[in-house]
Amino acid sequence: MSQRLFLRLSALPAALLLLTASAFASNPLLFEQVRVIDPDTGAVSDPLDIGVSHGAITAPSGLPADTRRVAGEGFYLMPGLAEMHAHVPPMRAGQQQIEDVMILYLAHGITTIRGMLGESGHLVLREQLASGELVGPRLITSGPSFNANSVASPAAAADMVRAQSEAGYDLLKLHPGLWPEAFRAIAETAEALGIDYSGHISVAVGLDRVLASRQGSIDHLDGYGEALVPPDHALHGTTPGLFAINLVAGMDPSRIPELAQRTVEAGIANVPTQSLLENWATGDVEALMERPAMRWIPEATRQQWQDNLARIRSQIPEGMAEPFIDIRRELLAALHQAGAVILLGADAPQIFNVPGDAIHHELEIYVGVGMSPAQALATGTTNVARYLDQADRHGCLVPGCVADLVLLRSNPLEDIRHAREIEGVMRAGRWFDRAELDELLEGVERRAAGKP
Ligand SMILES: [Zn+2]
Repeated sequence: MSQRLFLRLSALPAALLLLTASAFASNPLLFEQVRVIDPDTGAVSDPLDIGVSHGAITAPSGLPADTRRVAGEGFYLMPGLAEMHAHVPPMRAGQQQIEDVMILYLAHGITTIRGMLGESGHLVLREQLASGELVGPRLITSGPSFNANSVASPAAAADMVRAQSEAGYDLLKLHPGLWPEAFRAIAETAEALGIDYSGHISVAVGLDRVLASRQGSIDHLDGYGEALVPPDHALHGTTPGLFAINLVAGMDPSRIPELAQRTVEAGIANVPTQSLLENWATGDVEALMERPAMRWIPEATRQQWQDNLARIRSQIPEGMAEPFIDIRRELLAALHQAGAVILLGADAPQIFNVPGDAIHHELEIYVGVGMSPAQALATGTTNVARYLDQADRHGCLVPGCVADLVLLRSNPLEDIRHAREIEGVMRAGRWFDRAELDELLEGVERRAAGKP
């Protein structure tokens, strides 16, 4: 489908769009006698048949006789996961590297990514992924970053919001260094245009202003560290460093419940990316290098990650790495317990966070702080459906839903690590069985090793 035609069609209602995606969806398919996971209720169904046609879940009864069948006995079907703080490599990285990153996401059960540092080429990529021209998840993309360097004045910030909205980006990405006046201009313009703004909390803006705004998500639990330091503490208002790591000695955990409650009341979601921060602060470099997923990362990138890690480590105050991680975990647990919205996000590819693989480390952390496996899966499925107001695209395996799903060999509700045991992935009705995923991954591994 031509780019222009697709753009025109994208203005059509979702139901019609499904029909236009039928070339991608390929032939109808039937999962036979599979158990279905519902992340919202934590329920597992009895074995049943699930039909797929024209890219959507359908009743099995209406499928033609020559429908492809996938034996589901002993397997578990769960909705595809969304990685809500993903990165798509910049276009200058080259088409092959971008395609390899897309394969890594999909092969790990991720059927939607929210790209958090977009550029105009990503808008084209978004359509290529939507039409099935490229293998990979659905892409939701931010525009270029709003930060100290890109935003010269509040008026310029408002212009930038309008330009990105007009260009067709799905959201605005906020980075550090914004002044309150610029943040206000971004927020007001974005709200008037109905476009999401999400990401970091600039130090000068602070958590209070963000909680009073309609920012979509706070990423990396940014801004909470500063807010945990009482106003009368000597460290209050001093240079916070990376995610307030310089302030750990001044953070008062007794302030956590109130901040969690205020987050619930604000209705603002958090995308923790805790796995990345744990790599930075406390990860054992040798163990990180030996992770099996590292075979998909080119040597030059691995070296760069090691160098970046060393640089970050040199900035962490003595003895503060573990307390930093502990208080972040305590905050994440409190946000969850208070009922704040958590969205699954790991931040990859970044320092030892391999696309796709990182999401499974992130899920394990969520369970580690007290979520049930179902609640952890909800962060990447049903919570995303509510956040994006797309109940037919996320966390949904009933007729009419987009057929984005993962077939697992073991029950992830018994052990969240079972979410790694992937037998196949379906993206908008196109089925990738284990053999095809392995072939795709072998290609990524080969190229990472520098072989043609
Ligand atoms: Zn990021």
